[in-house]
Amino acid sequence: MKHVTDLAIFGGTPAFTEKLHVGRPNIGNREKLLERINDMLDRRWLTNNGPFVQELERKIEARLGVKHCVLMCNGTIALEILARAVGLKGEVIVPSFTFVATPHSLQWQEITPVFCDIDPATHTLDPRRVEELITPRTTGILAVHLWSRPCDIDALTAIAKKRNLKLIFDASHAFDCSYGSRMIGNFGDAEVFSFHGTKFFNTLEGGAVTTNDDALAKKLRLMKNFGFAGYDDVIYIGTNGKMNEMCAAMGLVGLDDLSHFITTNQRNYESYQRYLRGLPGVSLLPYSEVNRSNYQYVVLEIDESLSGIHRDYLLELLHAENVIARRYFYPGCHRMEPYRSYFPHAGLLLPETDKMAQRVLVLPTGTAVSDEHIKAICNVLRQGIENAAAIKERWSTRNQAALQRHAEPPAIPAAR
Ligand SMILES: *Cc1c(COP(=O)(O)O)cnc(C)c1O
Repeated sequence: MKHVTDLAIFGGTPAFTEKLHVGRPNIGNREKLLERINDMLDRRWLTNNGPFVQELERKIEARLGVKHCVLMCNGTIALEILARAVGLKGEVIVPSFTFVATPHSLQWQEITPVFCDIDPATHTLDPRRVEELITPRTTGILAVHLWSRPCDIDALTAIAKKRNLKLIFDASHAFDCSYGSRMIGNFGDAEVFSFHGTKFFNTLEGGAVTTNDDALAKKLRLMKNFGFAGYDDVIYIGTNGKMNEMCAAMGLVGLDDLSHFITTNQRNYESYQRYLRGLPGVSLLPYSEVNRSNYQYVVLEIDESLSGIHRDYLLELLHAENVIARRYFYPGCHRMEPYRSYFPHAGLLLPETDKMAQRVLVLPTGTAVSDEHIKAICNVLRQGIENAAAIKERWSTRNQAALQRHAEPPAIPAAR
């Protein structure tokens, strides 16, 4: 690229002819999947704890070394059912820097999410801030292993124990990851996974609760199936949280290729590391050496004071090139409804969350992304940063021209 006008945002040819998305699904062996679907149709057992669901539960239990895996229809319902099963009520401490399903799972049943700030070094709950938010109404902590990286489980476990609180984890990002030598899925009262199509391991839609607590597992199984303990025997209030056989078949096939998905993600991560090296103001969130990871997310932090250009400009540049990078989890749950109206001053206690929501840029990875793709993506970022001043100037000229024509103004990066 010789000139900024070669950038697609200013009329150049996009670097990619097709859109490259974050979270494009990893898909296992197609023949094996079709074979399983045929089995399912022959058997005419489509849902209600079918053989594929049972097989997937046993395989996940073995893989994570956990006593119970209870599969559900999605991660959000799994969170809702778990919150109810462990008896959360009143207030529950959660991060705001997460997908909105985390607080929604509480608010949906009128449990108040109390938003807690993150540690900017890890992007996960800051245990010191958690302690400050505990009140007589607090019944639990719902922590998130964001970007597949475990939160400070030891510190949170100590707080929960000392203050007699329930501790559950939204481990939606952290399937097949570890905290030290123990797999995620074994901590707190229970942990929740999402197997949604955008997650690196998917069952189309799906989720699971894992726990080592026998009584809790039993309760979860009742709750996800209307409270049925046997034919005509309802002993509990429940809902419909069951996973069906089609979804379980997808999961079983994906599970066989899980190592391949992870190796690909790790290789992509290393490519990003290589091509981004030395780019001012761009840091790639590291993965720990001591924990096993799925390398599911490529997370950049853009420091405008060094890059000379705000994250939102880079986002627009990338989108124009057909790289659909994302600014997860902008603007933070506390700035979304209904929380924004319920807690208009929540931001006062969330300075790190607010800062992070302005800096994070998530890039595509997974089996649909190659080294060549990554090289081209990083090249766009490099062009954006090396030509920051020219780009910003051109941007404002272009926007003014559009306004003068009374045309719909082009996308302007969101106000800060
Ligand atoms: C994906 C996700 C969920 C929701 O899972 P679904 O299976 O889509 O319902 C919850 N929390 C986090 C952090 C997620 O990323």
